[in-house]
Amino acid sequence: MIVAKNIHKTFDDLQVLKGIDLHIKKKEIVAIVGPSGAGKTTLLQILGTLDKADENAFIQINGQEILKLKDKKLAHFRNTHIGFIFQFHQLLPEFTALENVCIPGFIANKPKNDVINDAKEILEYLKLSDRLSHHPNELSGGEQQRVAVARALINKPSVIFADEPTGNLDHKTAERVYELMLELHKELGTSFVVVTHDQTLAARMDRILTIEDGVLITTG
Ligand code: ADP
Ligand code: MG
Repeated sequence: MIVAKNIHKTFDDLQVLKGIDLHIKKKEIVAIVGPSGAGKTTLLQILGTLDKADENAFIQINGQEILKLKDKKLAHFRNTHIGFIFQFHQLLPEFTALENVCIPGFIANKPKNDVINDAKEILEYLKLSDRLSHHPNELSGGEQQRVAVARALINKPSVIFADEPTGNLDHKTAERVYELMLELHKELGTSFVVVTHDQTLAARMDRILTIEDGVLITTG
């Protein structure tokens, strides 16, 4: 599903990732843990095609060598195969919950009504049916994060990258968002790669990868 080899990342003189190799199987749910500044976000952004590794890296997702794709094709690949959930959800403030969820579907050029119906269905599943026309600032933190989860799911990606998706939520809401991710993983077979510093939650995933100082140190 995901094969990454020889991932280095240097910002000016700062070597952040120092040669990471990893293999994530289809339908796996993998936690990435490690101290702050270890390179977790950088790795996730590179795997998720949002940032580029240094030369000589190899990344294959769903059989596609993504480093061979140029801008337009890469954007299309990202839009149709990959979902993201960020720590600070990054919803667009001027759009409603429903619109935020629909946008990646519209970008993928799917029929408008299909996208809207799918979005409503996902939001209903996430118990947000009565929040469709709310703007992000009219939603609680947990509700915003669930909208972000719905947005990540709209194009039925084969893999979702989540960067501390519950980092800004209280424990109970965080628990709920994780349960939801585990449920979706079970139901839809979506692979998840989740950066978290919550060891208890990490322990519930299939596997834990630990990054320290830009190097992968364990594969549990
Ligand atoms: P983590 O997510 O594990 O906390 P990051 O991947 O965000 O760590 O960052 C790893 C290191 O890379 C940090 O020391 C950070 O300051 C540095 N870094 C991240 N992004 C940039 C950037 N765009 N330019 C320069 N340094 C960066
Ligand atoms: Mg980070």
